[in-house]
Amino acid sequence: MDKIQMTTPLVEMDGDEMTRIIWQQIKDTLILPYVDLKTEYYDLSLPEREKTGDQVTIDAANAIDRYGVGVKCATITPNAQRVEEYKLSRMWKSPNGTIRAILDGTVFRAPIMVKGISPVVKNWKKPITIARHAYGDVYRAAEMRVEGPGTAKLVFVDENGKTTEQTIFDFHSDGVLQGQYNLDSSILSFARSCFQYALDTKQDLWFSTKDTISKQYDHHFKDIFAEIYKNKYKEQFEKNGLTYFYTLIDDAVARVIRSEGGYIWACKNYDGDVMSDMVSTAFGSLAMMTSVLVSPDGKYEYEAAHGTVTRHYYRHLKGEQTSTNPMATLFAWTGALAKRGELDGNGALVEFARRLEQAAIETIESGVMTGDLAGLWEGETPAQKVTTQGFMDAVASRL
Ligand code: NAP
Ligand code: MG
Repeated sequence: MDKIQMTTPLVEMDGDEMTRIIWQQIKDTLILPYVDLKTEYYDLSLPEREKTGDQVTIDAANAIDRYGVGVKCATITPNAQRVEEYKLSRMWKSPNGTIRAILDGTVFRAPIMVKGISPVVKNWKKPITIARHAYGDVYRAAEMRVEGPGTAKLVFVDENGKTTEQTIFDFHSDGVLQGQYNLDSSILSFARSCFQYALDTKQDLWFSTKDTISKQYDHHFKDIFAEIYKNKYKEQFEKNGLTYFYTLIDDAVARVIRSEGGYIWACKNYDGDVMSDMVSTAFGSLAMMTSVLVSPDGKYEYEAAHGTVTRHYYRHLKGEQTSTNPMATLFAWTGALAKRGELDGNGALVEFARRLEQAAIETIESGVMTGDLAGLWEGETPAQKVTTQGFMDAVASRL
């Protein structure tokens, strides 16, 4: 068989620990035999970030901006223990945070559903995609522990020195304080990414905030979404038979649980962080969750939703075979290859990605799976638990 040719390179970002091992196995077993893979390679492993003073992360993000599509392996976000372990000169920032800050945009997380592993919520028939605004709010807040009595004020000084202020609270005793912000430009691009992704994937869009309580802050998110929808997307949504619908987050959680799935749920930064963990757990496993960052100008970065699976890596280092689930990392690759193919008008590449996903899903549905899924399996015959490489070999023979 002739290998499938590529015209534009993918931005390939390698990572750390067990996922770095899986990364190479996926390429060797499932991609390189079939595709004449073109990538621009960036090594985002912690030693390389240390060596380049994290410049490699910035270079990778700029490359995604240039080429339009990237695929990223999970990476270590260093904490104090990692600084020690890797003898780091600094506690480097999260690569995902750096990339998001450069590309802006929204993270979409969707479960990979297979027959034989049912969601905990029994009426969920289709995937629920969480769209998480990846900027600001509590993640960029200023916080303070205060000793009362005293008065807390919210003060804004404009560039001419004009001051607007408001009392937050008259403290009679000790307490805590927090100040959050967001930007119109970021909320706007969040809204655009959500509407665009809904159109791309032909799914309804739900958006929820706590606007009844947060009458300025959250209400402003709601207004921006409503305005963008009316001025830019309403017509296209109607043409495609899609709905945009806003509701209070309390109402949204109740509706999500009662729903069949099959829509995108747009959430503010904190809500999306928490709700995506809840939704992915209810669908079965973090290893069955895909994640893509979509920038407002249509740049795509695909990754797995889980981390570097450190505990499995330590076992791998001891020479043990692990049964680590490669699905989310594999789907990061297929998502990126398919998007590259779509942008380049390369039908063969799109078709290859689709078949590889199908082969992986059918492998699990046939009862062959990694340890994390074996315990959830409800198929008729017992689950056949295989190693990481064993799973990929099974996918390859089906492919
Ligand atoms: P993790 O790597 O997601 O792993 C947590 C646990 O979840 C694992 O120990 C394993 O459970 C299970 N698990 C996750 N992925 C799995 C898979 N593919 N197959 C089978 N089981 C899987 O999270 P973590 O241990 O909190 O973080 C490890 C490192 O990853 C940290 O250094 C963190 O900074 C980094 N991280 C990176 C990203 C990213 O790059 N996007 C995201 C999150 C965390 P069992 O051990 O019980 O089998
Ligand atoms: Mg979280």
